[in-house]
Amino acid sequence: MSCTEPEPTSTDVVVIGGGIIGLGIALEAQRAGYRIRLIDPAPASGATYAAAGMLAPVSELHYQEEGLLGLTLASAKRWPGFMQALAADGYPDIGFQSTPTLALGADAADRSALADMREAQTREGLDVSRLSIREARRLEPLLSPHITAAHMISGDHQVDPRAVAAAIEARLLAGAGDSAKTAGDTIIRTNAAALLHRDPEDHDSPVTGVMLADGRSIRADEVVVANGLGAASLGGLPAHLVLPLRPVYGDVLRLRVPEHLRPLTTATLRGMVRGIPVYIVPRSDGTVVIGATSREDSNPGVSAGGVHQLLRDAQVLLPAVAELELLETTARARPATPDNAPLLGRVAGAGGRDIPGLLIATGFFRHGVLLTPIAAHVITGLLQGRSDPAHAGFRPDRFSPAVHPQERP
Ligand SMILES: Cc1cc2nc3c(=O)[nH]c(=O)nc-3n(C[C@H](O)[C@H](O)[C@H](O)COP(=O)(O)OP(=O)(O)OC[C@H]3O[C@@H](n4cnc5c(N)ncnc54)[C@H](O)[C@@H]3O)c2cc1C
Repeated sequence: MSCTEPEPTSTDVVVIGGGIIGLGIALEAQRAGYRIRLIDPAPASGATYAAAGMLAPVSELHYQEEGLLGLTLASAKRWPGFMQALAADGYPDIGFQSTPTLALGADAADRSALADMREAQTREGLDVSRLSIREARRLEPLLSPHITAAHMISGDHQVDPRAVAAAIEARLLAGAGDSAKTAGDTIIRTNAAALLHRDPEDHDSPVTGVMLADGRSIRADEVVVANGLGAASLGGLPAHLVLPLRPVYGDVLRLRVPEHLRPLTTATLRGMVRGIPVYIVPRSDGTVVIGATSREDSNPGVSAGGVHQLLRDAQVLLPAVAELELLETTARARPATPDNAPLLGRVAGAGGRDIPGLLIATGFFRHGVLLTPIAAHVITGLLQGRSDPAHAGFRPDRFSPAVHPQERP
């Protein structure tokens, strides 16, 4: 059986969507011995393509999102194992860096915002230490002398999401190799159109496969809906299910550091500049990522104002940014939910019982790269019949009041 011409029309698990979440789930399910079909016309071309790749449970702790912290910390802990397994399979280069993060403030108000954030972080037992400006500049000599505050966060790291996605895609295409059961696993480059049900008239009946946009269908024991913002418009979802996804656009820049300025910074820099967040993430190839805006203006293109804002604010932290070569401007939409937490797990039908064959993993908003290993772990556990009550608050049907009115993360 060829890997590029996947003729069999039945499999164990279909994963719809080949962003970092769908890829991570497909990989872990394949490792667990399931035959996989992953469906995506252009894998890793959505939010994954834009992501800076910060694995940042500490810096990303936001007011009223404390419920997410357990999940983000659990996933951060899983990243080394996730990465080592890829390396053991022959895919070692995913841009992992464990260098620290410096949180920086530009003016007095930013300093006070940073102090509030540090208070919240230490209240949660997270490791954040205050540095003098002199100490910060000793670590990063190109920092502006005019910054007003610096905190050191040692637990946040980074990967290169494009490299992670490419490694997983290659690993999936290679298949398990020594296992007849998984050798034909592959990626099907088209859109999924609709879920198939045992009773085509009843979308609460067990899911039995997927209808593709090109008219083919694939039978599967389980279907994982992991196509980011596209999840809500998939055909055949249970009628009562509300997937309240909305796009939050982000502009992000990639720049090359000239030889004489390397390293521009060894730490990831996360600044507050007149109340607006900006980050500078150094890559090992001599480039940096500067991001990211947060827009709900329905403009999917790169925003000129956004690019201006990012370059202006990054230069407040690191004036030498003005000397870099601008390589790329990108905008993509983060799949956001009303409580900023993912939609992850099985889905109950109108009668309150989980619909066999249907799993959902979307709504990863700002944290999809960080949350990839835990999403893969949770979904694979559910495929194997294991569910952890700790994740019940992230159920995808929590916004469908008829089903789970009381559960919130
Ligand atoms: C500017 C920016 C910076 C970010 N930085 C970070 C960061 O530093 N750290 C972090 O953890 N997160 C970050 N994020 C968030 C992260 O990128 C997302 O949470 C993550 O990419 C979500 O992954 P996903 O696989 O769910 O969705 P996506 O990456 O959007 O993938 C969805 C996939 O589904 C496919 N698809 C859509 N419809 C269909 C269909 N009908 N059939 C088949 N396939 C379909 C698409 O082609 C796409 O490949 C950032 C996001 C942005 C925009």
